[in-house]
Amino acid sequence: MGFVARLIGKARRSSPWLLHFDCGSCNGCDIEILACLTPVYDLERFGVVNVGNPKHADILLVTGTVNQRNRQVLAVLFEQMAKPGVVVAIGACALSGGVFREAPNVLGGVDRVIPVDVYVPGCPARPEAIIDGVLLALEKFREKE
Ligand code: SF4
Repeated sequence: MGFVARLIGKARRSSPWLLHFDCGSCNGCDIEILACLTPVYDLERFGVVNVGNPKHADILLVTGTVNQRNRQVLAVLFEQMAKPGVVVAIGACALSGGVFREAPNVLGGVDRVIPVDVYVPGCPARPEAIIDGVLLALEKFREKE
C-alpha cells in the first residue's frame, strides 16, 4: 500500500464520516439520530461527521423499513459509499420491518437488501444505544480498513 493510501486510511479511521438514510420510518428514530448530533449527546466528539454525499460516507446509518419503492435507492447508496464501508441498522423497523412488517409492500429489515454490520434495537432506538452502535461500527470499520 502506498503512502497516500495509508494516509487516507489513517484519516478515515480517525474521523469516519456518516450518512443517514431514512428508508421508510415514522421519523422517531431519525429524531433520535439528530439528538445524537446535538451538543447534548455530541456524537462528533468521537471524530465522526455527518455528511450528505454517499461517496464521502464511511458509515451508513439506516432507519425505517425496506419496501418495494426504496429498496433500489438503498442499494444504490450502499454501492456509492466509500469502500470499505460499515452499515448500521437503527430501530426495530430497520432490523425487521418493525410495526410495518405486515404491510403489503414491506420487505422487512435493511439486511434484506444490503449487508448490515451493526444492529441497534429499540422503538425508537435511544440516543445512548445509537451512540453505542456507532462506536461498534467504528471498531468494525477499523477492522475492515
Ligand atoms: S423503530 Fe419505532 S420509532 Fe423507529 S422508525 Fe420504526 S416505528 Fe418509528
